[in-house]
Amino acid sequence: MPQEPKDSPESAGISRRHVFGAASLATAGIAATSLWTRQANAAPPPEEEKKKIEEIENFKYDLEKQTHWVGPGGSAKEATVEEFPVSQSMAGVSMRLDPGAIRELHWHALAAEWAYVLEGRVRTTVISPTGQTEVDDFEVGDTWYFPKGHGHALQALGSGPAHFLLVFDNGHFSEFGTFGITDWIAQTPPHIVARNLGVPESALAQFPKKELYIGPGKVPPATEALRDKDVQWFQSSHRFRMDKVPPREFPGGKEYLVTAKEFPIQTTLTAVHMVIQPGGLREMHWHPHADEWQYYMKGRSRVSVFGSHGRSRTEEFAPGQVAFIKQGYGHYVEQIGDEPTEILILFNSPEYQEISLANWLGQNPISMLETNFPGVPRNVIDRFPLRETGIFGKRG
Ligand code: MN
Ligand code: MN
Repeated sequence: MPQEPKDSPESAGISRRHVFGAASLATAGIAATSLWTRQANAAPPPEEEKKKIEEIENFKYDLEKQTHWVGPGGSAKEATVEEFPVSQSMAGVSMRLDPGAIRELHWHALAAEWAYVLEGRVRTTVISPTGQTEVDDFEVGDTWYFPKGHGHALQALGSGPAHFLLVFDNGHFSEFGTFGITDWIAQTPPHIVARNLGVPESALAQFPKKELYIGPGKVPPATEALRDKDVQWFQSSHRFRMDKVPPREFPGGKEYLVTAKEFPIQTTLTAVHMVIQPGGLREMHWHPHADEWQYYMKGRSRVSVFGSHGRSRTEEFAPGQVAFIKQGYGHYVEQIGDEPTEILILFNSPEYQEISLANWLGQNPISMLETNFPGVPRNVIDRFPLRETGIFGKRG
């Protein structure tokens, strides 16, 4: 549930209307530090000034509760700016395929595709403009990354359904508006298709009249040659296992952090698999140069974002739900419930950056903090942390 800002301006001895007045001046580019004194005795701002400070927009989306596309062979649910307006920079899709079913040959003009296998096994084929072709099999915990525009297809292997999370580096992307091979062929005059495929026009009657998208199929053999036997077949530059990197261990949990340094093809995203033990707290921090997109795999959490101008908003998250934290917004993740919380997190940058409250406090002189927190005794300030903890353990 949304909550009221915890540190209300009233508690700082400044009325709310002055905050609104100050904020509108900040919008006009006037240094925030001088606002408080300047505004302290000013007249209340008119109503329209107040309206400029909008509430923090919704940052929670219940992805797995949706029913977007269901058909023979599988299903897909998505979170683009259409459904989840805050997520301008990234979009997510939860896709399920029955054994043998395919997500047909296609490409994405507007976005690169990252994926994490949540259940079952998947085979992918992908072609790059350098002519590098790859065929890879993926299991639970494996990720793939297909750069923007690279042609690819997916197929579920094994005896049970495959379920995977797809994340795209553009919130305006839609899985239902990608470039499919059957759609392209259906849109092209028969004499052109016949020449391109080397078949008589009469053979085109068998072709799908519209985009297949997802279709049922048979589970393929364990290994299979490409049609062109002379093509050099590469493997695994698009594939990465997140638990291959050593985890960053914290008192209250751990995280696997995969940037472009570990997975060179992943040039637009950083991926994190975070585990927070019961009672843990991912400490207060922000990311200077990236938005944060979270998908809850297991367990529950309470996430709070701070959006300046006396605004904050808190929401609870459970498996199947998505959070979006805008670049530069302060936030924390408080684990709740008895089961460890597991989150898949994407940042829209190939390099990871964060600034923690703890490091910030540790890397300032005492006199600065004494002046910044008037009335707070020195012995309290001396207890402030010197450096980050990452994830705090359960309070003893
Ligand atoms: Mn795709
Ligand atoms: Mn964060």
